[in-house]
Amino acid sequence: MDEVYLFDEAAKLHMGKAELGGKGYGLVEMTRIGLPVPEGIIITTKMCNKFFSEKKLWQSIIQKIKAKMKALESKTGKEFGNPKNPLLVSVRSGAPLSMPGMMDTVLNLGINDTIAEAIASRLGSKFAFDTYRRFIQLFGSIVLKIDKEKFEAILEKSKASKGIKNDSDLSGDDLRHIVSEYKMLVRRETGKELEQDPEKQLFMAIQAVFESWWNKRASEYRRIYNIPDSLGTAVSIVRMVYGNYNANSGTGVAFTRDPSTGERTLYAEVLLNAQGEDVVAGIRTPMHIDRLKQLMPKVYSELERSAKILEKYFKDMQDIEFTIEDGKFYLLQTRNGKRTPAAAVKIAISMLHERLITEQEALLRVEPEQLEKLFYKQVDQSKKPNPIAKGLPASPGAASGRVTFSIEGAVEAKAKGIPVIMVRPETTPEDITGIAASTGVLTSRGGMTSHAAVVTRGMGKPCIVGAEAVKISPDGKSFSVGSIKVNEGDIITIDGGDGSIYVGEVPLVDPKQTPEISALLKLADKHRKLGIRANADTLEMFTKALENGAEGIGLARTERMFNSPDRLELVRKMILAKSKDERQLYLSKIKPMQKSDFKALLGAAKGKPVTIRLLDAPLHEFLPKVEELLPEVIKLRQKGPKALLKEKEELLASVMQLREANPMMGQRGVRLALMYPEIYEMQVSAMLEAAIDLVEQGVKVDLEIMVSQVAIANELMQARQIIENTAENVFKSKRRRINFKIGTMIETPRATLVAADLAKYADFFSFGTNDLTQGTFAFSRDDAEAKFMPFYMSSKVLEADPFVTLDAAESRLVDLCTKEGKAAKKTLKVGVCGEHGGDPKSIGIFNSLGIDYVSMSPYRVPVARLAAAQASVTGAKSNTI
Ligand code: ADP
Ligand code: MG
Ligand code: MG
Repeated sequence: MDEVYLFDEAAKLHMGKAELGGKGYGLVEMTRIGLPVPEGIIITTKMCNKFFSEKKLWQSIIQKIKAKMKALESKTGKEFGNPKNPLLVSVRSGAPLSMPGMMDTVLNLGINDTIAEAIASRLGSKFAFDTYRRFIQLFGSIVLKIDKEKFEAILEKSKASKGIKNDSDLSGDDLRHIVSEYKMLVRRETGKELEQDPEKQLFMAIQAVFESWWNKRASEYRRIYNIPDSLGTAVSIVRMVYGNYNANSGTGVAFTRDPSTGERTLYAEVLLNAQGEDVVAGIRTPMHIDRLKQLMPKVYSELERSAKILEKYFKDMQDIEFTIEDGKFYLLQTRNGKRTPAAAVKIAISMLHERLITEQEALLRVEPEQLEKLFYKQVDQSKKPNPIAKGLPASPGAASGRVTFSIEGAVEAKAKGIPVIMVRPETTPEDITGIAASTGVLTSRGGMTSHAAVVTRGMGKPCIVGAEAVKISPDGKSFSVGSIKVNEGDIITIDGGDGSIYVGEVPLVDPKQTPEISALLKLADKHRKLGIRANADTLEMFTKALENGAEGIGLARTERMFNSPDRLELVRKMILAKSKDERQLYLSKIKPMQKSDFKALLGAAKGKPVTIRLLDAPLHEFLPKVEELLPEVIKLRQKGPKALLKEKEELLASVMQLREANPMMGQRGVRLALMYPEIYEMQVSAMLEAAIDLVEQGVKVDLEIMVSQVAIANELMQARQIIENTAENVFKSKRRRINFKIGTMIETPRATLVAADLAKYADFFSFGTNDLTQGTFAFSRDDAEAKFMPFYMSSKVLEADPFVTLDAAESRLVDLCTKEGKAAKKTLKVGVCGEHGGDPKSIGIFNSLGIDYVSMSPYRVPVARLAAAQASVTGAKSNTI
């Protein structure tokens, strides 16, 4: 069937945006509720797809369009092609999902030489030829594919020769002359005269609008925003109303609320004596809405009234196009308006208070990613700073600092209190001290889950990765972007929220915590089912997490507590110890430090659950590198103190001995602990002593001890034994018992398949989805990011990066493990503490799998609260294979 309808016919069929496109839907709905919309015809998106398969317009649809044009003529009382009373139309594109400015619209179609002259004799040549020249310009560029610039050049030349700045100041004669030059241009470029038959113009334009679906801009836009190519565009044919009619006419855009603050005030810009896109194109400075109120109070109140009606009908802030023709007001478009993150929150909460929307709807009005932006510093865009390059926005927030290319540089600067931005080709685990000492990180390679990205997100530091334009010089003392050179020590500013890099210090703005943000998060807490905890290793991180609303710690990594240089040295010695006695000596020195760390975390938690993970260090992260040690030894052999040589030689031998082919899958976590139980013994007694001290001070404690890397139930059984025996000893010596839980991370694929066995020895499970993803795919994350993940994404081998959003196959493992674990033990608590725990999409999946809580970096806690609430409101389903 040929789907071509008058707007009021379409209104009766109750079609949606999928069929009518966003623009068409708005026009049809506004017609339905009786707002002043010029009459029109809609051709559905289905016809667009049929056009692509037929490759041309087919007979029956041509007849149907002609018939509807007849109907439009009788509705409007005008005639298409009749010079005495001409009907002119716009032919407009409109996709189901908003693609602003990506496709094309032709205005004033149906005009020709005869009609222009006839209009001129009735209404003056200025209006007639302004309308005609606009038509030729749009028809010429969109349908005939003549370069737009060539029309612009003619217009500019004409204005310059008259010393005129505004298009609207051109006289009728000027415009008549421009039209003849335009027609010459068309003849030159196409070898044909400008089409004079309105009907032919119409079908050429419809075809061009369909074809514009595949223009480069639109295709690229769809690729970036993941909009399916299969949607297609609808076409609307709308009676022209003339904002260029006279001084009592104009065109404008309005937002029903302020799109930057969310304030409930009409926000609009108007241009008098202008048409179509003159406002957006920035050709003239538009007039403020208050001026319109003075000049045309009737029009203003119509606009105000329409805005109210539209908000009530669409239950959201609207972005409106309108036109005034000789004092009469028309609406030409309405859609849900784009807004800043701050405005999104404000509008959601205000509309809830105005009873326009429900709590559930309010929660869905703010994207988790938008909310996140409100918690970080940003570059002050009102100052319109110019970035020199852009990279991937890996970790939000903005910072200025001196450029450093080395870890030492960062550490030295930090000691002096100087903020630095560390710039590296990419980062590796050894760079952690440098990252910790920097205010921000910039890398020229790597993706959104590269090392730098993951670590900085955890720390809440700004980071930009994959900034390919940034070329670091071979001597590592400067970088350049095109012809701009930046030396070590120069100041740059980075904005990890949008990936922009600036030279020099650019003004930043602080995040503002508004009552609306708190209200939205409170609402989220009311609706969410998932518990929200934070991954926090230090009191500082935990404090931030509590401030952001975390309900406890889901993962405290004890090895991360060793990062300060004095502690690192002790840990190194402990790892390299040759005997159990020697190891115990170092462990006993580490113990008081750990105890005070644990006490700080448990004390701050005040009875909220705190999951502390026993040591899970890939050993290589704590040892000097062979590549660095070996040259030292060689040098010392040639010349150097004997004692130092001996020491270094021994160190080298131990490092060689401990070296692993694949440390990520090596002797770490429970595998290390079973062979060296004294490590767990020390940590467990430090934890329990800290807990008992607190209990004795009257502080509530909820301690959960977690074992990592488990693949086999017997591993957990033996680890549990070590923990329980140690606990008994502590209880005996302290003469006090406390309750605590023992659980395991689930981060090996094997573990997910033996949940019932593991549940025998576990009070809780916590999915470590970083390692679990590596295991599920047998991809090492660092190699994947550096070598093939970007390619896999661009070539659509994978739809989404499985290190960011939980993969479908991995979801099945999580699902199976959760179900079997809970079936085996009713009281089993199941959480998630990998990176995915803070990813809104993955949170939706975890919610549907019956997980009890998710845990993420302290900075992502608010985002997770909202995402969890949205998941329970929409009942998001798990992804499927
Ligand atoms: P876009 O999607 O680029 O905004 P539109 O189809 O909305 O394209 O049209 C471009 C401009 O022309 C808009 O300013 C719109 O309001 C105006 N316009 C479109 N159709 C008409 C019409 N029939 N009468 C007057 N102005 C129109
Ligand atoms: Mg528009
Ligand atoms: Mg792990």
